[in-house]
Amino acid sequence: MSQSDQPSDIPETAVGAVKWAWKWVKRIVDLERRIAAIEGTGNLDARVAALEVKMADLLSGKSPADVCRKCGNRTLRFESSKQNGAVEVWVCHDPACGSHERRQVNPR
Ligand SMILES: [Zn+2]
Repeated sequence: MSQSDQPSDIPETAVGAVKWAWKWVKRIVDLERRIAAIEGTGNLDARVAALEVKMADLLSGKSPADVCRKCGNRTLRFESSKQNGAVEVWVCHDPACGSHERRQVNPR
């Protein structure tokens, strides 16, 4: 290697380093795009699963459960009627709650 080759070697090495770095930047950006796409798909799957749970009653032909005033979950179902239908007993089927609700039924 002669002295005259040295000045031309330095810029070539610098250009090579920039090209090498640019190649890695592109790879990292591409990888980040792929991760974002996978995470997006994951969120979509979770949202579809939540919708399927909400739709399960309707798909099975059941009418949707009522909202429990104690725990707030949609797990309240009619249990029985009393006083010749003047009072209805509704029970929350959330195992952590189990609230009973008595509803006065207006005469028709
Ligand atoms: Zn409840």
